[in-house]
Amino acid sequence: MTQIAVISGKGGTGKSSIAAAFATLNGKVVVADCDVDAANLYLLFNPIHEEEIVYISGSKAVINYSLCTGCGICESYCRFDAISIIDKKVVISEISCDGCFLCSHICPEKAITMVRNDKSRMYSGSFRNGKMVYGRLAPGEENSGKLVNMVREKAKEVAKINNLDTTILDGPPGIGCPVISTITGVDKVVIVTEPTISGLHDLQRTIEIVKKFSLPAFVVINKYNLNSSMSNQIEKWCTQNEITIAGKLPFDKQMTEAMVQLKSITEFNPYLEISNKIKVIWKKILNQKK
Ligand code: SF4
Ligand code: SF4
Repeated sequence: MTQIAVISGKGGTGKSSIAAAFATLNGKVVVADCDVDAANLYLLFNPIHEEEIVYISGSKAVINYSLCTGCGICESYCRFDAISIIDKKVVISEISCDGCFLCSHICPEKAITMVRNDKSRMYSGSFRNGKMVYGRLAPGEENSGKLVNMVREKAKEVAKINNLDTTILDGPPGIGCPVISTITGVDKVVIVTEPTISGLHDLQRTIEIVKKFSLPAFVVINKYNLNSSMSNQIEKWCTQNEITIAGKLPFDKQMTEAMVQLKSITEFNPYLEISNKIKVIWKKILNQKK
């Protein structure tokens, strides 16, 4: 079984659109959307849910106003500035509360209780080209990478049960814990970049992380024709650093039209230049020995 993660140093590079195209080329696959903060592939693939699992991401402090005297002790102790007194009323910010339990212990009136965060979910199901697993973290809940791990474990189980050889992981943007959770233990990493200075910097930071895991990396320069000289600079840097360039994709406004019609670009029009190039890139990635 081969697990291929598609990542990018930042959002907006077209990573998910490219992952969607890989997932709908040929043969059944497992798709794992690991961008749990902003999962979007489920909108495109509209999977039939077969399983829904509650993900508990921690706890939040809640006040019982019938017991609270407004003494303000909790406000002075909270290190996360989650507690404020507004119009003599104690208010806890759900977003800022880290769930450390301190206020619930120090409140002399026992007016604070801790409630589990149970709004996040992991879903698993079937889509038109195989199986799909994804997570949705509730707004304000911290992305430690644990939900990503859950998605990955489920994707592995689904691949095994259904005898599916290829798993495509659509990673979150950036280089933090969720990205590390996405690429740990995969077989290959595809890094999608764009021809801008910040694109090159993000690529360099991403490569540093990928190298730590000794993973085969493939770079895709998306929308290369929007800035050919920057694209050449990225290619040059990759060559100097012995990083494989899987290919370059032109800007194509039909990419947006495909999304509007809830299709990947290769489903929308398999004969476009960009669709053909994506096919060549995918073949190159699949055929490269691990
Ligand atoms: S410490 Fe307890 S009683 Fe005092 S303001 Fe906070 S919640 Fe209210
Ligand atoms: S649980 Fe911790 S972070 Fe949350 S409000 Fe209480 S003291 Fe602040």
